[in-house]
Amino acid sequence: MIDLRSDTLTMPTEEMLKTILTADLGDDGRLDENERGEDATVNALEDLSASITGKEAAVLFSSGTLANTTAVLTYCNPGDRVLVDEIQHIYRSEKVVFDKKFGQLIPVIYKLNKRSTPDVDNLKFLMQRNNIKLLCIENTHNFAGGICIDLKELKQIYSLAKEFGIHVHMDGARLFNAAVSLDVKAKDLCRYTDSVMFCISKGLGAPVGSLLCGNKEFIKKARRTRKLLGGNMRQAGVIAAPGIYALEHNIQILKKDNENARFVADSLRELKNAEVQQNVQTNIVMLDITKTGLTSTEYCAKAKEKGLWIRPALENQVRMVFYNGVSHKDAAYAVKVIKDIDASL
Ligand SMILES: *Cc1c(COP(=O)(O)O)cnc(C)c1O
Repeated sequence: MIDLRSDTLTMPTEEMLKTILTADLGDDGRLDENERGEDATVNALEDLSASITGKEAAVLFSSGTLANTTAVLTYCNPGDRVLVDEIQHIYRSEKVVFDKKFGQLIPVIYKLNKRSTPDVDNLKFLMQRNNIKLLCIENTHNFAGGICIDLKELKQIYSLAKEFGIHVHMDGARLFNAAVSLDVKAKDLCRYTDSVMFCISKGLGAPVGSLLCGNKEFIKKARRTRKLLGGNMRQAGVIAAPGIYALEHNIQILKKDNENARFVADSLRELKNAEVQQNVQTNIVMLDITKTGLTSTEYCAKAKEKGLWIRPALENQVRMVFYNGVSHKDAAYAVKVIKDIDASL
């Protein structure tokens, strides 16, 4: 079975797991005068993450959802308005910051342009008419098909937000997929944001964890929010050690994942029924199955019968995600399955 459901399926390697045995551990929830914990390995991962994103400080979380939630709640008070796009992870999947029982923030929905990056004119229009506290962007954009916001666009978006005194948070769950695709440093992509979250638990291959990075004052506040949300951990060096290994060894692996995704998309241009995503940039490929006459659940069931495990994404869309452990041969097999299904319809 070729499993393309998600890049969260990456398994830690033996070499990565060995780092846990020799990690210098302590109680990360016990704070010193600078409000940093006592786990030296967590501190090392946080410092490495800050340096890699070009930010002053970073803080470790057990998940990307908790890191995004903490970031948004650190910037905002109940009733504040937050700019998100309709298919953004924070809005569509995580939801809690906009829940009436929990975060109580008000979403203001901005449009994506044809390339599926934020529509700057629409952002400006919305900023002029609403009292906005925070703008959230997603890079790469998961439900848009792993699309990257490049440096030029980031700069434009950031300058606009600053004109209106608005903070910018970037959900960079797959930040490094964007960096290797655009051939820029991660820190360049983070320059035009106030804070960024990235996951070590996806393509980078670590078992658990996400980092929130920003300036010292923001991260200090975020640590307090994390504690309120029950996000403090104890000997979290056991997850930080594989995280350090991931950042030191696995960033370049993402290139291969991006290449496999593009290979699959390029091989599926001639389908008669399903329609493959045009502008594949990173490790995600969307397949529009509207014209197949099948629901996305039915389509995925057919694929699974033939040895390809994929999942519905948005309505009429099926998502394929490439990660370490999916070889070029596996990618070629996925192409064969999709072509076979298409021919059988
Ligand atoms: C995976 C993901 C997250 C965070 O997910 P967790 O499963 O909570 O770690 C956030 N944003 C995007 C775009 C994601 O793909």
